[in-house]
Amino acid sequence: MHPRSVRGFVDGAFVEGSAVFEKISPVDGGVVAQVHEAGREEVDAAVRAARRAVDDGPWARMSTPDRVALLRRIAEGIEERFEDFVAAEVADTGKPERLARELDVSRAVANFRQFADMAATVGLDAFHTETPTGRRALNYAFRKPVGVVAVIVPWNLPLLLLTWKVAPALACGNAVVVKPSEETPSTAALLAEVMAGAGLPNGAYNVVHGFGPESAGEFLTTHPGVDAVTFTGESSTGSAIMRAVAPGVTPVSFELGGKNAAIVFEDADLDRAVAGLAESVFANTGQVCLCTERVYVQRSVFDTVVQGLAERAGALRPGRPDDPATNLGPLISRKHREKVLGFYAAARADGRLVAGGGVPELGGDLDGGAWIEPTVVTGLDDGHRAVREEIFGPVCAVLPFDTEEEVVRRANDTRYGLAAAVWTEDLRRGHRVAQRMRAGIAWVNCWYLRDLRSPFGGFGLSGIGREGGTHSLHFYTEPTNVCVEL
Ligand code: NAD
Repeated sequence: MHPRSVRGFVDGAFVEGSAVFEKISPVDGGVVAQVHEAGREEVDAAVRAARRAVDDGPWARMSTPDRVALLRRIAEGIEERFEDFVAAEVADTGKPERLARELDVSRAVANFRQFADMAATVGLDAFHTETPTGRRALNYAFRKPVGVVAVIVPWNLPLLLLTWKVAPALACGNAVVVKPSEETPSTAALLAEVMAGAGLPNGAYNVVHGFGPESAGEFLTTHPGVDAVTFTGESSTGSAIMRAVAPGVTPVSFELGGKNAAIVFEDADLDRAVAGLAESVFANTGQVCLCTERVYVQRSVFDTVVQGLAERAGALRPGRPDDPATNLGPLISRKHREKVLGFYAAARADGRLVAGGGVPELGGDLDGGAWIEPTVVTGLDDGHRAVREEIFGPVCAVLPFDTEEEVVRRANDTRYGLAAAVWTEDLRRGHRVAQRMRAGIAWVNCWYLRDLRSPFGGFGLSGIGREGGTHSLHFYTEPTNVCVEL
């Protein structure tokens, strides 16, 4: 297949970069795209275009009902080109087509519809004020767009995470400059075509491609014309961005890494728990920030759960994305595989691998890809690096526990705090333990069930702030409080 050319998008037009880099397929190591990397000048042009769009012109003057209608047209535009988006996402990530259809592209459509609905109905905070001295006033908070928003996103759920930020930012009337991951540039570029087709005014949606340090990521976050940065990615990148925005005290919203725990009590419905755990560990080849990497199991059912997880790992089928039998994709790159294999080696040295632990031999051109075996480990201490550090691969450590008090303490003993899952048939225990999780989301007897209106984010190293529903609308707007004496 001839590699596609993926260009940036600035002020309503596709643009060349200052250099070109190759995007490599994780399926077979072939070149899938030649990507135009934005230099400092191209990033500057994108930020300036965004500034013009929010300061004056058709985007700045558009009424809320028209903006809502436009967001709905964008959702329809993605639906009309649904299979193009699936193909682009699959080419970049290697994930099974079914997953791209059911998760990534469907959620992109839902993100635009959700924030169109919210923008249509959002109200004002208003207070009727009466002072002890008898003065009376009407106070109301009038919300306006923040301005130019930099949107920096990772490679694991590229379109889903990008639209999770772009949809509310546009719903609030901002202009965005998007920096997709260097590993997954394609769907952001395709979205530009949909935006233009839906009638989004020039400059409201811009895309710059490239890497982080000394590339488009850094040029964007250090640009003085950026009014807010919303970022999803690694915690260490979050700290680098915080340093970059410090001089301008630019507001940030961060969705970062995790080291998520699942807790299985002996009273759980074990069949359901094992199926749910396996999904939470292996979905998207473990490359979801919400994936479980630590599984605490009450001692009396430990062996049953370990065996169930090992069987599920063994039953996963890696293969070509368009093969309907495939339910496990590759990792995103060989480089990422090196990192994950380092954890596998450390786990093998200090614990016991009950499933996987290596690289599968799939034969033919697939052996040029970034395939890896789904893996289950037991026998590790809580202090082991495979139990403490985010791996971001299809692997979990299974650890036994005896009491509720003990497992709550151990599950919370992490610098991250993104997600947790509790498996129990005891209703009161489910609520009690979920509420005690130091995590942004705690599921009971499920995983990845999401309501886009709820707050999403994490404690500690897992992020700053919350997005979702009104939380997003608050981040992407600045209120002016108006006080009128009556
Ligand atoms: P990453 O931090 O390496 O890269 C994310 C984005 O930041 C990319 O676009 C990258 O080019 C850019 N970037 C890197 N360095 C930068 C810098 N110095 N300045 C500006 N931009 C920079 O993350 P990744 O490897 O692409 O993604 C995996 C990570 O993302 C995992 O840690 C995962 O947990 C996290 N993640 C979190 C969530 C969440 O919602 N909390 C969701 C998905 C992924």
